[in-house]
This record gives sequence, structure tokens and C-alpha cells, in this order.
Amino acid sequence: MRRKIVVGNWKMNNTIAESVELATAIAEKVGNDGVTCEVGIAPTFPALHEVGKVIEWSGIALTAQNCHYENDGAFTGEVSARMLAAAGCRYVILGHSERRQYFGETSRIVNLKVRKALAEGLKVIMCVGETLEQRENGVTEAVITEQVKEGLAEVSDITNLVIAYEPVWAIGTGKTATSEQAQEVHASIRATVAGICGEQAASHLRIQYGGSVKASNAQEIFSMPDIDGGLIGGASLKVEDFMAIVNAAG
Ligand code: PEP
Repeated sequence: MRRKIVVGNWKMNNTIAESVELATAIAEKVGNDGVTCEVGIAPTFPALHEVGKVIEWSGIALTAQNCHYENDGAFTGEVSARMLAAAGCRYVILGHSERRQYFGETSRIVNLKVRKALAEGLKVIMCVGETLEQRENGVTEAVITEQVKEGLAEVSDITNLVIAYEPVWAIGTGKTATSEQAQEVHASIRATVAGICGEQAASHLRIQYGGSVKASNAQEIFSMPDIDGGLIGGASLKVEDFMAIVNAAG
């Protein structure tokens, strides 16, 4: 039985004070409301430490949005997995489509980051997803399979891995994949992972869906057999919206 996981990706939103306020309100609900799924929130780097302090008691997983694949060095503007682990992060999101699209992250770079983050004791949420053009050209499965295989190259233990399937055309657009479309890709990801890591490991792997998940569609999406929760962007910035999604996951 896989425990569902819902993570709020706050992207480049909120000052430290605003982040602490939002995190405090979410922690009060998650900590007191008998939530059974795993919940994470991913504020910006400057807010991580302060947010970590106000959510610690609630069991919410402090999550970072990115990291570099080296521990230290001359990489101006970057933050390492080692630093995130020391700052109290449990998870790091890697390979988000906005990183791939706007910052030139290839699956090869994502793979270096995944390996480093796992080696530093972080759990990883590795994002994959096809563009609208790729979906319309009928290459969704090929694209996702390639991203999964490249992202997991030389990764032997996936105990601390979560994969997020996020169709690029559904992120921040209000368009959501139907639950059947999402289930089809999730099942294909699980089959790909089974081919790499074995059936047993793949059956334990949690695969989140992301892309305009909201209170009104969360329950249906999360009811699909291979969908183990969600990575939530826009709707994670409002306590009521986020909590409705968390509650839909259990
Ligand atoms: C995301 O950025 O991971 C995401 C799913 O965004 P949204 O929910 O806003 O589509």
C-alpha cells in the first residue's frame, strides 16, 4: 500500500514573512486534522529555514525546489543538496519543467542532481512531462520513457524517490489531464521503472500527478490506481485550496 503524497510547490512566490504565515496556517491544519497522506511544502530558498521551524511539529516535509549537483564550489547563485539537507529539507524537487524550459536543464543534468541529492540523504521528487506539441505528435510515452530512463541512469536504489508526472501543457494553464490520460502515463512510468529497477521496487514507487490540480478535480485524479498524490502549484498558495486537495488524498 503506497501512502499518498501531496506537495505544494510555491515557486518564486512569497517573502520570508509571507511564507512563514502560509506555512503556519497549513501546519495548523495538517497537524491537527488527522491527515493521513504525506504532505510537503516547497518555499523559496531564503524562506526554507524559517518555514522549517514553524512546520517541524506538524510532520510536514520541508521541500526545496532545486539544487546543484556539486557539494560546494564556484557556482555562483547555486545551492547544493548538502546545504539543503543541513537546512532541514526532507525532499528536493528536481527536473521541474520550468527548470527544463527556462534554465536549460537536460535529463542528463537532472540525473546528476538526482544522484547527488540521494547521496546526500535527501528524498527526490523527479519531474517528467511532455509538451503539448509532443502529445499532439503522439510521442508522449516515448518522451516520458526517455526522461525516466535518463533521469534514473546509475540510480540503483529508488526507495527515496518519488516521480511527478506533470504534462507541461497542464502546468499553470488551468488545463488538467483527464484522470484516464494521467493514469495511462503513470502506468507506463511504473512499467518503465519496473524494467530498470524490478517489479517490486516499482510497485512501491509513488508517482504524483501535477498540472492544475484543484479541489474540484483532486479526488477523481487521486482515485486512479497508479496516481499516488499530487504536486501542486497555484492551488498550494491558498490554505483552503491546498487543504481541500490534501484532504482529497486522505
Ligand atoms: C507545478 O508547478 O508543479 C504545478 C503543477 O503547477 P500548477 O498546479 O499551478 O499547474
